[in-house]
Amino acid sequence: MKEIEKELEKYLPREGSHGYFHTKRVYALAVRIARSENADLEVVKLAAMLHDIAKDKERDGLIECHAEEGKKLAKEILKKHNISDDKIDKILHCIGVHRYSKQLKAETKEAMILQDADRLDALGAITIARIFDYGRALNRIIHDPDIKPAGEYSHKNKGSGTSFNHIYEKILKIKPETFHTKLARDIAKERYRFVEVFVEQFEKEWRGEL
Ligand code: FE
Repeated sequence: MKEIEKELEKYLPREGSHGYFHTKRVYALAVRIARSENADLEVVKLAAMLHDIAKDKERDGLIECHAEEGKKLAKEILKKHNISDDKIDKILHCIGVHRYSKQLKAETKEAMILQDADRLDALGAITIARIFDYGRALNRIIHDPDIKPAGEYSHKNKGSGTSFNHIYEKILKIKPETFHTKLARDIAKERYRFVEVFVEQFEKEWRGEL
């Protein structure tokens, strides 16, 4: 496991929304959820560790889908480290379907856990910090009360263009009841509430009400 973790640093940038630290957070959540679900811990750990390994290649436009390419890269790494074929198949399924937004079906408990852990990292305090940080890189303004949030958000339609509205357009659409596992739903509820509180406070401060 340690050697495989070391390999990761070759593939993942430390920062960025899908970098090394994102993987570490997803890993920690996935392990917690796996324990609460009595899932195969080795499969979950290795799948979480390797799930975004091809993300950089996707961002650079070299490949279409980092989950598909990730399966290939992960397979090579897992074989090199003598993981059994049976486990490799299970791990590759988790990686292949980890993108919830692609509406791919998680067929196993372990794949559901990875989807849950990955989506949880898009909800909460760290995500809020990342939105404002990323907004700066995109030259977005923090907020303008005259610009209303867009109803739809996708990779093509980038929303209304302010960082604050992005919370409505993307984050508050991650509903706790859409998570597969009980623990993920519980964590999602807390994180969702935190985001709602942040939004309420922000708007009140903007109007000088608090
Ligand atoms: Fe991820």
